[in-house]
Amino acid sequence: MKLIVNLKLKPLESQHADLLRTLERAGEACNWISEQAFENKVFKQFAIHKIVYLSAKDKFSLSSQMVIRAISKVADSYQIQKAKQTFFKKHGSIAYDSRILTFKSSNKVSLWTLNGRQTIPFVCGEYQRKLLPFLKGEVDLIYRKGQFFLNAVCDVPEEHPMIPDNVIGVDFGIVQLATDSTGESFTGAFVERVRQKFSNQRQLLQHKASKQTQSGKRPRHIHKLIKRLSGREKNFRKHQNHVISKKLVEKAKALNSGIALENLEGIRKRIEKRLRVSQRAKISGWSFFQLREFVTYKSKLNGVPIILVNPKYTSQECSECGHTEKANRKSQSEFECKNCHVSINADINASRNIRSRAFVNTLQSSENIVLKNAV
Ligand SMILES: [Zn+2]
Repeated sequence: MKLIVNLKLKPLESQHADLLRTLERAGEACNWISEQAFENKVFKQFAIHKIVYLSAKDKFSLSSQMVIRAISKVADSYQIQKAKQTFFKKHGSIAYDSRILTFKSSNKVSLWTLNGRQTIPFVCGEYQRKLLPFLKGEVDLIYRKGQFFLNAVCDVPEEHPMIPDNVIGVDFGIVQLATDSTGESFTGAFVERVRQKFSNQRQLLQHKASKQTQSGKRPRHIHKLIKRLSGREKNFRKHQNHVISKKLVEKAKALNSGIALENLEGIRKRIEKRLRVSQRAKISGWSFFQLREFVTYKSKLNGVPIILVNPKYTSQECSECGHTEKANRKSQSEFECKNCHVSINADINASRNIRSRAFVNTLQSSENIVLKNAV
């Protein structure tokens, strides 16, 4: 499975300048090559190469690989359209291959720059560092908000899926980000508190911004603050999603269980429904997809099978007797069956329905995994 690892470079001031100059030079080369290609009406990579390679190498003092990459970038842009000359950003990313980028240790990388090769320290998460040995292909050098990053594609081997003894159903929600059929919920007061804090800060800033607009001032710095806030919130959410998905997958693996999820269409529909209900749903709504994605890829990496089920009425069906009625769902969090009168947390009820549907699915489809103890 291909995963992208993001590393943050920590260059010295002089190295920062070298990298920036290299990036700018590569951008200039792209623009020059693009001009040559457009003027000569030559748009295929090989043909462009023929007319520009030697002079571009000479003119911009770039490494061969960088010139080749610039040519391919230009050729790609003319695949989309040939009517107008393409222009490239001053600080667009550039691709490095193993000839001009090598990892020196677990925290240093050597990169080709206009000022020769530079060994630069980098930082990344502990988990990302573990993926680095699986580095495959090219690495992109990216300049964002005054800092340099490397995006490295790693081809990480998947574990052969186990044959599960059991299935854990997982329901994604708003108050509880995830609830599983064993009754465990993933989120807790802490996440809710932080979410509330972000929400309050944002409201305060938006209020300020609207006031200042009325008085004729430009609230640009406030918009900047709001943007920074939302960036921090996004990071927080991402981290939480990593923590939750890791716990879920570890639990499934320890219990030798597969994980059952509603198919994507179901989640999308439900989010749309909830969007109308409250602004808060909108905010957390987007994290469903990320959490689901994390659960899916971590399961694959760990050999935990994922079983997708039809999401229809998972929140209205009674997990005890199967009676389905809208009125069964008393509130966001309460479920009380009109038929058998069982009273249960609504999220747990839904996750149990998801779990039992997974058993039906696996029995019906020979493509899917076979469960040993299907009940
Ligand atoms: Zn019932």
